[in-house]
Amino acid sequence: MTTYVRATDPFPLESADHTKLHEFYARLAEGRLVTTRCSSCATTAWPPRGFCGECASDAFAWVELPREGAIHAFTVQDTGLPPGFDGPRVFAIVKLDALRIFAVVTGVADPATLQIGQRVRLAPVRVRDDPKGQPRWLLAFTPA
Ligand SMILES: [Zn+2]
Repeated sequence: MTTYVRATDPFPLESADHTKLHEFYARLAEGRLVTTRCSSCATTAWPPRGFCGECASDAFAWVELPREGAIHAFTVQDTGLPPGFDGPRVFAIVKLDALRIFAVVTGVADPATLQIGQRVRLAPVRVRDDPKGQPRWLLAFTPA
């Protein structure tokens, strides 16, 4: 049974035991959105990266991102949802400054009412704890 649960666990292992990017999730739990900026060449990454794709440096700093953006594109999933998810599920690319961030959009009663350019705000979702019982958070937005 444990093997089955782990095999179907759709969420990353977010704790410091598993990723050097654990601070991203810790701040998400506080309702903050951050990403990495290379300390060597100042490239801002999305998603957060432990090394720079431009200069290969592994020195980075956390930078705060806005908590509100606009829907750049979206799609709706009606079927094939993982166990425990209610449909329909909305996925969007959200414009935040120069970044384009893929995330779930929650709190949408009727996806047909969503529009490109609509304002959304950060609304992290607590998901199933990791196998050691540590809380985990999923990046999500909701209509502003
Ligand atoms: Zn760099």
